[in-house]
Amino acid sequence: MAGALSWASIRQGTAYLRCRQGPRAFCVGQIDLERLAQIYLAGVLHVITAPCNCGNHAEGADRVIGQFNDLIRVRGLPEINHREVAVEIVRNGAGESIDGARRGFLRRVSDVVVEDEEAAEDPPALAAILAFGAEDPNVPYPWVPVFDADLCTGCNGCINVCPEDSLILITAEDGTVCYGARPETCNGCELCMSVCEYGAIELRGMTARSPDIPLVSGVCRACGVDYHEPAGRESASGFCPVCRRTGHHRKLFQVIQ
Ligand code: SF4
Ligand code: SF4
Repeated sequence: MAGALSWASIRQGTAYLRCRQGPRAFCVGQIDLERLAQIYLAGVLHVITAPCNCGNHAEGADRVIGQFNDLIRVRGLPEINHREVAVEIVRNGAGESIDGARRGFLRRVSDVVVEDEEAAEDPPALAAILAFGAEDPNVPYPWVPVFDADLCTGCNGCINVCPEDSLILITAEDGTVCYGARPETCNGCELCMSVCEYGAIELRGMTARSPDIPLVSGVCRACGVDYHEPAGRESASGFCPVCRRTGHHRKLFQVIQ
């Protein structure tokens, strides 16, 4: 993976990040946890950023590197040091030019640059790092999906939509089932929240994993399909999520009566 990043140059354990323009535009302020994890797994413990004139990148890089360090510190992993180099951008009549310090910075970083497409083929780096300490229930994750057992109807909508398989239906050997959330792979996309009509799932940041939700299984009293819903749910009805939502079974019973 080392060097497979067109947005960073890596040399002797140091990553040099700089804003760039053009078709592969990158602003240091856009750095995210996955990109940091990529260079971390490539052996980077020092990050040097070079400012451009957008005015918002330094805060973003500091914040995300701080969050990354919060995640790895509790896992017993060494932290990343961040330093910003002061580089002035001098404007002249023909547009932007750069001073000697910036040229020096760019010379240092110009030797190791490979393309993003190669990095995209690598397995997610952040998930690999978050797997450290997974046996400890108290280690934090950047995004933690949490079910609300009182609101959840057991429709499986979020399970089916999650692109990272972070939400799963677990069937034990004895046939019991539960919903599980696996924050190691969650990317914070919020699709699960968007698809849930009942507001029964939320994302919490920088917290420990949530407990599995035991489910009870049954056969719908109206349509006869198998279904499941959170155990102990106050509004447990004996109907599957579809019949519960549409209420068609009530009309059918009215016709029969
Ligand atoms: S959290 Fe919402 S979408 Fe997911 S199973 Fe429960 S009701 Fe369905
Ligand atoms: S935020 Fe996205 S990746 Fe995370 S559990 Fe929800 S759907 Fe899955």
